[in-house]
Amino acid sequence: MGATRKGTATGATRGTGPGAGKGGRGGAGAGAGKDADRRIGRRALLIGGAAALAGTAALARDELGRLWWRMPGVEKPRVQGAVDFRGARWVAASPANFRWADRPDDYTIDRVVVHVTQGSLASAVKVFQDPGHRAAAHYIVGRDGRVTQMIRELDVAFHAGNREYNERSVGVEHEGFVDRASSFTDAMYASSARLTAGICARYGIPVDRDHVIGHVEVPGADHTDPGPHWDWDRYIRLVRAARGAVTRT
Ligand SMILES: [Zn+2]
Repeated sequence: MGATRKGTATGATRGTGPGAGKGGRGGAGAGAGKDADRRIGRRALLIGGAAALAGTAALARDELGRLWWRMPGVEKPRVQGAVDFRGARWVAASPANFRWADRPDDYTIDRVVVHVTQGSLASAVKVFQDPGHRAAAHYIVGRDGRVTQMIRELDVAFHAGNREYNERSVGVEHEGFVDRASSFTDAMYASSARLTAGICARYGIPVDRDHVIGHVEVPGADHTDPGPHWDWDRYIRLVRAARGAVTRT
């Protein structure tokens, strides 16, 4: 309910404050396929500099307040090891594979993107911890239905291969292979459906195929997951059922 649209229908939802997120984001960024945003360090330096200048001046306090607003990830308290889905195991992804943010306040979240790992759960966890991988999803659902969270939902995970979609979505990986129907177990569907239902409840996302999408449906995506064996009708049905049972958190 709190996550109403702040931007345009095309998802230009970043920053609601004056000049937020403008400078430095242009250039070749869009469409270059690189998700990384290396400006946070510079931003932190700017804030540090402002703090040093502030001294005791009352004026500076306002200024600092405004700058703090622009610092990603400082608005909400973060607790080490905290998860967004009850019962999830927490394993931190490498910071190179996501960007600190303050969603849904700085970016509206209106999509869930379904992925398949093309490998084991263990190998997916390993690559998401690898700073050289340059990609990771928020969650991985195992064949046994166990959920591992590696990035907080308030942060922007590099999972969709499309910056705008990364900023607006939560990425859920599923252990298995796109060409192997047996990858997708009952336990996995049930657990993933509860996870996605919770995400949809938290951000007011409609449970339909326009908002719960496959990686293959992300504009510009060169990935095919979750592939032909993923049973979308079944999944959406399960998410809807679970959504009905979810109390908003
Ligand atoms: Zn994918």
